[in-house]
Amino acid sequence: MRVAVDPIQCVAHGLCAELLPERIRLDDWGYPILDGEPVPRELVGIARRAADACPTLALLLEPDGK
Ligand code: SF4
Repeated sequence: MRVAVDPIQCVAHGLCAELLPERIRLDDWGYPILDGEPVPRELVGIARRAADACPTLALLLEPDGK
């Protein structure tokens, strides 16, 4: 799986980068920058929690197509 962000829904809350710093960092305005790498199996649970915790549900988990 990979994480994705809906840029229209994202309000730069920053919670996702706190919960999943392995894949997400924040730009100077607090918007997430994704590294685009797959989420390893051991981080999928944390990635799901980060997606559930996003206040606007802007953080998405998508199949990586492999
Ligand atoms: S937690 Fe949600 S709203 Fe906040 S920066 Fe991440 S994707 Fe955007």
